[in-house]
Amino acid sequence: MSVRVRFAPSPTGALHIGGVRTALYNYLFAKKHGGAFVLRIEDTDQNRFVEGAEEYIQDALKWCGIDSDEGVEPGGDFGPYRQSERKAHYQEHAQRLVAEGKAYYAFDSPEELDEMRERLKEARVANPQYNAITRMQMSNSLTLSEAEVTERIDSGAPYVIRVKLPRNEDIRFEDIVRDWVVVNTATLDDKILMKSDGMPTYHLANIVDDHMMQITHVIRGEEWLPSAPLHVILYDYFGWDRPAFAHLPLLLKPDGNGKLSKRAADKLGFPIFPLNWNDPESGELSEGFMEKGYLPEAMINFLSLLGWNPGGEQELFSKEELIQEFSLERINKAGAKFDIEKAKWFNQQYLKSSSDDELAQALMGNTELAIDFDLARRIVAMMKERITFLSEIMVSGSFFFEAPTVYDEKTVRKKWTQQAVDFLGEFTSQLAVLEALDGEQVKSIILGILEKDETPIGRVMPALRLSLTGQGGGPDLMEIISILGPQESVSRIKKAIEELSESVKE
Ligand code: GLU
Repeated sequence: MSVRVRFAPSPTGALHIGGVRTALYNYLFAKKHGGAFVLRIEDTDQNRFVEGAEEYIQDALKWCGIDSDEGVEPGGDFGPYRQSERKAHYQEHAQRLVAEGKAYYAFDSPEELDEMRERLKEARVANPQYNAITRMQMSNSLTLSEAEVTERIDSGAPYVIRVKLPRNEDIRFEDIVRDWVVVNTATLDDKILMKSDGMPTYHLANIVDDHMMQITHVIRGEEWLPSAPLHVILYDYFGWDRPAFAHLPLLLKPDGNGKLSKRAADKLGFPIFPLNWNDPESGELSEGFMEKGYLPEAMINFLSLLGWNPGGEQELFSKEELIQEFSLERINKAGAKFDIEKAKWFNQQYLKSSSDDELAQALMGNTELAIDFDLARRIVAMMKERITFLSEIMVSGSFFFEAPTVYDEKTVRKKWTQQAVDFLGEFTSQLAVLEALDGEQVKSIILGILEKDETPIGRVMPALRLSLTGQGGGPDLMEIISILGPQESVSRIKKAIEELSESVKE
């Protein structure tokens, strides 16, 4: 049977980076096995619907290059792929369980349910539940006569459908990550399958769809592990084959203390969402990894290693390599620390290895400056080894675009000497007559001047750099001068000589 997996987010807000990792693992597994990656939108909880969230999820996955083979957008043979459009299936399946005595109607009002919980608490029941024992004291189709049940339903009384769990039975299933999981039904309750608004709960919709969409492997976050025993029971109740399960380890805060939450990320100053998210309810804008300057390839590589261990030393993996190497068996049980410094490292590596053309395109797209492509290429070629984010070019490389207005104090103090100023004077007069020059020409002019009085180059270069960039260090100065051109260089040097005239050291 060919592999079919799904990523099944609920559009209740922005997609968390942990969700992106879940989608990625599903995607890698599908591609590795020549299978299908399905994107299903689980939007049955009307109370938690958030405007724009579904579109956000689609955009975020697209940015990461996690393309779905089937889903709302590409369509497919198993649609519709939005649960809100599949209501009839859930109704039908819930009715089937009721008819077979594996589920029942329950009419209890919220007050009655509260009363039941209070009663149980008073009787010192630690975990009050609607279960094999308590259900017999409640208003449901197991305690009411058939006529009464029909009458209540016909009169439009609100009701839910609950699963009828066995009282004391061990449920076993094998999880690819966690090995064997055994849970006794005494710890579970008769979960609601259909709500009074006629919508299914997550549990019912999720397994009906996984079955109907022929999902072979359920790969999802560890927070769903407690739901898995109920799902297993439902598969058995329907007489369906269970899919294989793999519950992924949690993403932890960088220090390993607790779950990575939006609050924790906000506090530590890094994004938690792949793209900018404008929360329609609070109005809060959260900056995304994309807007922060992360490259999608770097994100994918970084996320792939949060919970999966390829074995061996290699850390940099292209998407194709990840697909080749990925296996569910090498997923760790232990939570994975979200080390943002590592994410930056990956970004650096990918920036370094991006082509100058690509980065130049991106730089031009990111800046309001009108620079031509060739200039953008030369700038990124010089800077890409020195930055973590492309946007840093606008800060540490601001001199490419405008003359410095401040000068590095330490360099002024130590290197702005009379000798250097004399050199700069000579240098500008030689440059002034030129229209353009390359790095080699710059070098020979400099050496030519220095040769005369045998001045070591180190005596004057810091001052030259300072006058042009305001900085005490940076990339190849000859190339910078070539990029700025002779006229701009001359004007900057003159400006610096004037502005720093009080600071000249003998
Ligand atoms: N709709 C669930 C979620 O929001 C899906 C969980 C699952 O994959 O079963 O994550």
